[in-house]
Parts: sequence; C-alpha cells; structure tokens
Amino acid sequence: MINYGHFIGGKHVPGASGRFADVWQPMDGTLRGKVALASKAELTAAVANAKAAQPGWAATNPQRRARVLMKFLDLVAKHNDELADILAREHGKTIPDAKGDIQRGVEVVEVALGAPHMLKGEYTDGAGPGIDIYSMRQPLGVVAGITPFNFPAMIPMWKLAPAIACGNAFILKPSERDPGVPMRLGELMIEAGLPPGILNVVNGDKESVDAIIDDPDIQAIGFVGSTPIGEYIYGRGCSNGKRVQAFGGAKNHMIIMPDADMDQAVDALIGAGYGAAGERCMAISVAVPVGQSTADELVKRLVPRVESLKVGPSTDASADFGPLVTKAHLEKVKGYVDLGVREGATLAVDGRGFTMQGYENGFYMGGCLFDHVTTGMRIYKEEIFGPVLSVVRAPDYAAALKMTNDHEYGNGTAIFTRDGNVARDFASKVNVGMVGVNVPIPVPLAYYTFGGWKRSGFGDLNQHGPDAFRFYTKTKTVTGRWPSSIGKGSEFTIPVMG
Ligand code: NAD
Repeated sequence: MINYGHFIGGKHVPGASGRFADVWQPMDGTLRGKVALASKAELTAAVANAKAAQPGWAATNPQRRARVLMKFLDLVAKHNDELADILAREHGKTIPDAKGDIQRGVEVVEVALGAPHMLKGEYTDGAGPGIDIYSMRQPLGVVAGITPFNFPAMIPMWKLAPAIACGNAFILKPSERDPGVPMRLGELMIEAGLPPGILNVVNGDKESVDAIIDDPDIQAIGFVGSTPIGEYIYGRGCSNGKRVQAFGGAKNHMIIMPDADMDQAVDALIGAGYGAAGERCMAISVAVPVGQSTADELVKRLVPRVESLKVGPSTDASADFGPLVTKAHLEKVKGYVDLGVREGATLAVDGRGFTMQGYENGFYMGGCLFDHVTTGMRIYKEEIFGPVLSVVRAPDYAAALKMTNDHEYGNGTAIFTRDGNVARDFASKVNVGMVGVNVPIPVPLAYYTFGGWKRSGFGDLNQHGPDAFRFYTKTKTVTGRWPSSIGKGSEFTIPVMG
C-alpha cells in the first residue's frame, strides 16, 4: 500500500489532517494506496514556503530558469516507462495512451523553454521629448493549479511549466484519484535543480481547494475539471480578487456530412469516442450525421466496430481502452446508459454487461452506442465521460450547426466533409473553442492555446501557448524622462505627447 503525503519545500511531508482518500488500481479493482487530504493549515504552510522561495526564483534570469525545465525534460524522458506505469495503474488508461498523456505535457514544457523570448517587453524610443516608454512582464508571485483525474501528467505540466518559467512559485493540487504522477513530477523538478518551495504538490479535496481560493497570498488559480466545480472556483476566486481561469466539461459534437469519406469518419468516431474509455474532455460524445442515408450508413458501420472494441487491462498495450477510473464513476456511466434507455433512445450496442476475464473486480464496461438520441434527452445534454457515443440525426447542415451552437458546452467539435465551403462556414460560425476539419480531436499543439467556450471555460485567457505567459505574468509599463531633458515648471493638464 502506497501512502501519499504531500511534496512541500522540496521534500515529502506526511499528511497531518488525519483525513485520507483511497487510491484505486482500476484494472483489477484493488486498493493501491491512500492519499492524505490537506487541511487549511497544511495548505497555508505550503503557501508560506512558496512565498519565501519565490523572490529568489524571480530574480534568477529566465534562461537559467528555462535550463531547469530542460533538465526536467531529460528526467521525464529517462523515467518515461515508470511514469506511464504509475499513470496507467492509477488512472486505468493503457500504457501507450499514458505515454501520450505524458508527451502532450512534455510539449508544453518544451514551449515554456521559450520564456526568455516570451517575457520580453516592448520599448518605444523617443515617445516624447527625451521620453522613452518600455513595458515588462513580471511574475505574479505564488500561483496555484487545481487539476482533474483524467490527464494526471499532461494537465499538471500545462499549468506548472509556464508558471515556473515566468518566475512564479506554484502550488499544485492534483486530483486525489491519481496523485502518483504529480508527486513524481515534484521530485523530478527538485532533481532537475528547481529550488525547494517553487513547486509544491499538496494533495487534497474541497478543504484544500477552498483554502487555495481564500488564501490572500495566492495570486492566480488555473483550474481544469468539471463545470460546476470550475464555475464555483471561478466565482469565488474572482470575488477574492484573484486571476482565475477555469476549464470545464464538454459534449463534443462531430458532424458527418453526406459527402464525408465514411471510412475515415467511422475510424475517427471510434478512436475519439472510445479512446481512454471516453474519459477525455475532447472525446467525441455526439455524432451528428446529416441526412437520413448518411445516418443509416453511419450506424450500420459503427455497430460492428463498437461491438468488436477490445477492452483490456491497462498493461495490455493492444487494448483499445481500459477500465474507468473508479467503481463510483463506472456506476455513474452505466446509470446514464440505463437513463438513455428509459428516455427512449435506441441502444444499438450495450456494453454494460462486460466483464474482463481474469480481472473480474476491475472497473470495466464495454462500448455503448445510442441511436435516435434527441436534444431534449439528459444523455444528450449532460456530460457522461465514459465509452458511450450518442447519434443525433440532423436533417441538414444548418440543423447540425444550430444543434452544436445551442449546446451549453463548447469545448471541441469536428466536421467531416470533402466540401471546403461547408468546412470554412462551420469553422467560422460554430460557437466552440476548438474546431477540427476532418480531425476528430482538435487539441491544439502546445504553441497554440487551448480553451473551450460557453460553459466549458471561464476566464479571459486560454491554457498554454502565448496566453499562458500572459496569464502567469502582469505587465508593468515604465515612462522615463532623464533630468537633462526635463523643462522647468509644473504641468496641470494631462500630459500629451503632442
Ligand atoms: P472534478 O471537477 O471532480 O475535479 C477537478 C478538481 O477539483 C480535482 O482536483 C478535485 O479534487 C477538485 N474538486 C472536486 N470536487 C470539488 C469540490 N466540491 N470543491 C472544490 N474542489 C473540488 O473533475 P474530474 O472528475 O477530476 O475530471 C473530469 C472533468 O474534467 C470532466 O468534466 C472533464 O470534461 C473535465 N476536463 C476538462 C478539461 C478542459 O480543458 N476543459 C480537460 C480535462 C478534463
């Protein structure tokens, strides 16, 4: 049994609250360990540690800061198999998918190496008589990240790398369901030469999150998780005067036009709908075929593919997807399938009864496919976050676009078509933050920004890319005039440059 405490000030600190959560191994349903849940006092102590360390780190030149991240990248590569193993055991995703989770985080660390360039200010020589103006980007101080269970390597790295590269100290509050990888990232940062206190991993639940939101020394919070929690953190964090970005849930629609390459569309739906057991915020959970014959053809082809999906333990590299994260989440997803049947949708493939031979206590289910789902049903409106794909038939393109725009979530979407006019129109008019054209999961690369619209994202700036450097810094503008150029007398009107 592993006992996870916290990683504060560069060392392991046991939990002191007396409260713990279970950490499961979804592939066989065994208890892997316990994780300490921090009290407000423990969180406050971690913040004090970070606050004391931060000025020295901010004063370290940006290239030296970037070199620490470079060394960290070497260590992540060296420990790649070990990290993927921990990740797969605690989350349930397959080892190849766990390596993808790590890789998409690594790419954001690579972009954070460009901090010396990204932090450059602007300069105007001779803005007025003897007057120069320049701007600089300065770190905020102590900042925090609160992250979800479904990408325990990628999302912590999305948050901590740019924050640290900008000269901040960082408090990471990872998901209590899979804390193993975030704890290892903390250790590897110290091995890479990060000064103690600059990255602190504090495990916990609502109590530590509330302590983060209310701590006067935390200047900014980056959250990723479900919409209700994101909205709560955004509202309370902003009212406490903090900078907050909160990325929430999703219901990603994929439109299949009558002229789409049907082989490509079906392959895309199978990978994007069922990969990682559907536990991705960019998973496609709604397929929208346009026209009756497109829908009939699509469902005819999807059924045998969903029926033959290979579910397996996380250690089976040939499995299409593994178990769900916890038994409670498995029951919730199966409950949604029960609900869909009651709501009158056609359950074309039923994966509820699946058990994994040799792993009977694991948190498995097979892929499910619903046809004839309507926009009034709860299985359409709500995020299920499991291997369940809903087909909602649209009579024409305009109806498919309207349906996507009317949904409360706006994280990702995709259109499959051979028609450039339709693709351009969709990309331009759809009310969603990330759009794929014949690409089912359009997660932008690390040098672009990532963020959903509507109730999938709260706050002004996106994650990673140029926005990350803006989010984790504040701009100061200096207007200077040297004594030799200063004329005599006071000015009582607002200065203008003439
Ligand atoms: P979650 O909202 O349950 O948890 C996210 C974080 O909030 C965790 O660190 C958790 O400890 C904390 N938390 C949970 N309940 C809380 C409460 N009552 N008060 C304060 N803090 C609380 O989300 P999850 O189940 O870990 O992750 C899945 C969700 O995350 C899905 O909705 C998914 O769509 C979303 N997600 C979104 C993105 C994105 O970029 N938009 C990316 C990944 C996941």
